[in-house]
Amino acid sequence: MPIATVNPATGETLKTFDPLGPEEIERRLATAHAAFRRYRATDFAERSLLLDRAADLLDEDRDDIARIMTTEMGKPLAAARAEAAKCAKAMRWYAANAAVLLADERPLPEDVKDSGAEQARVHYRPLGVVLAVMPWNFPLWQVIRFAAPALMAGNTGLLKHASNVPQTALYLEDLFRRAGYPEGCFQTLLIGSDAVESVLRDRRVAAATLTGSEPAGRSVAAVAGDEIKKTVLELGGSDPYVVMPSADLERAVRTAVTARVQNNGQSCIAAKRFIVHTDVYDEFAARFTEQMAALKVGDPMSESTDVGPLATERGRADLEELVDDALQRGAVALCGGKRPETLSRGWYYEPTVLAGVTPVMRIHHEEAFGPVAALYRVQDMDEALDVANDSPFGLSSNVWTRSEEEQRRFVRDMEAGGVFFNGMTASHPAFPFGGVKRSGYGRELSGHGIREFCNVTTVWHG
Ligand code: NAP
Repeated sequence: MPIATVNPATGETLKTFDPLGPEEIERRLATAHAAFRRYRATDFAERSLLLDRAADLLDEDRDDIARIMTTEMGKPLAAARAEAAKCAKAMRWYAANAAVLLADERPLPEDVKDSGAEQARVHYRPLGVVLAVMPWNFPLWQVIRFAAPALMAGNTGLLKHASNVPQTALYLEDLFRRAGYPEGCFQTLLIGSDAVESVLRDRRVAAATLTGSEPAGRSVAAVAGDEIKKTVLELGGSDPYVVMPSADLERAVRTAVTARVQNNGQSCIAAKRFIVHTDVYDEFAARFTEQMAALKVGDPMSESTDVGPLATERGRADLEELVDDALQRGAVALCGGKRPETLSRGWYYEPTVLAGVTPVMRIHHEEAFGPVAALYRVQDMDEALDVANDSPFGLSSNVWTRSEEEQRRFVRDMEAGGVFFNGMTASHPAFPFGGVKRSGYGRELSGHGIREFCNVTTVWHG
C-alpha cells in the first residue's frame, strides 16, 4: 500500500510520501534506544508535565488536526474534533494517575511475617522501546491510547501508522516534540507493513502493540513470538447488541443506530450483530430500519453529515462482497445494500439493515467494517447468548434488559471483554479495553493497560 493521503470523499490523491530507507530506520532505532536510557531516569512529575503540555497543545490544534483526519480517512468532522478532545482527556488522566497506578506494591504483612521478605517490594519498571502498529480508523485515539501510558511508564515509542494516514502520523511525532519530550521519545516511522518485521526483530525493540485486523495481528505476533517479545493485540470485533423484552425500545433503537454507524461504521467496538427477542423484534426492526434509512450520507466536512465515505476503496469493496454474499444466500436488505446513487465520487455506502442472517453467510462470522447491520430474531435468553457467542470475535457486547437476573446471566456467559447494559460500548481511561478469542489479548487503558509494557520486578532486601 503506498504511503499517501487519498481523500475518500473524492478518491483524489492529495499527497504521497516516500517510505524511510534502511539508514533512516537505523538512525531512528538508535535514537529511540538512546532516548530510553535517559528518559527512564525521569520521575513521574517530569513525565506528567510533558504529557499535560502535549494535551494542551492538542486542545489548541483540535480544529486543524480534525480536518487532517477527516481528509485522510473520511470521518465526519464533528467526530474528528471529539476524538481529539477525548485524546487530550486521556493524556491528562494518565498524567494525573500514573504514579498511583505504578506505585510500588508491598505484600500484606501477615503473608511475609518471619520470611525475610518484610521489606520486599514489587516495582513497575519500563520495558524499553515499544513498537506501535496502528490503524487508520481512530488515527489519533489508537495512538494516544498506547502512547500516554507507555510514556508515563518510562518507555519510548516508535509508531508505524496505517499507510493512509501519514499526515496524522507526522502530526503526532511533532506534537510530542513541541511538548518538549527529549528527542527520540516518540517517533513516527513512515514505513510499509513489509518493513515491520525487521524493526520488530531489532534487539533494541523490546515489545510491540498492534491494533488492526486479524491477519496483521497474527503476522506481528508470530514474529514477536519468534523473538520472545511481549505483544498486546487489539483486533477486530463483531459485537452483539442484544435486545430483550424489558428494554426501553425507543432508546435501544436510537442507540443501536449510533452504535452501528459511528465512525462511518468502521469501529472495532461498533455493534454489528443485532440479536432481538421475538416479542419486540418486529417493532425494533421497523424502527431501526426507518432510522438507518433516514441518515444523511455525504461530505464528511459538512456539519450535517451523519455518515461519510468508507476510508478506502478496498474497504468498500470488501463490505460490498460481504453484503452480496448474504443477499445471495437468502438475507433480505430492509434498507440499503448498495452504493448511494446520488454520490458518484468517493467510497460511500448506504446504511444497510440485513434481516434473515444465518450461519451459512460470511457476515455471520466476519466483521462488517462499514454501516451494515445484521439482524437476528431469537426466542429466549439462551438463544440470544448462543447467537452472541457464535462468533470468532469477543471484543465487547451490548445488552438491553432491565432484569437483574438476566444481567447476571449475561455477565456470567458472554464471551467478550466488555458487557454494556442499556447503552453502547464506550472506552474510558479508567476501565480496561480489549477482547478475548480472535479479538486479541492484553488490555489497554486503566492500570491494566499501563502495566502491559512494564517489567514487573521483585526487589528484595535481605
Ligand atoms: P490492518 O490492515 O490490519 O492495518 C493495521 C495496521 O497494521 C496498519 O498500520 C497496517 O499497515 C499494519 N499491517 C497490516 N498488515 C500487516 C502485516 N502483515 N505486518 C505488519 N503490519 C501490518 O487494519 P485496518 O484495516 O487499518 O483496521 C481495521 C481493523 O482494525 C478492523 O479489523 C478493526 O476491527 C480493527 N481495530 C481494532 C481495534 C481494537 O481496539 N480492538 C480498534 C480499531 C480497529 P499498512 O496500512 O501499511 O498496511
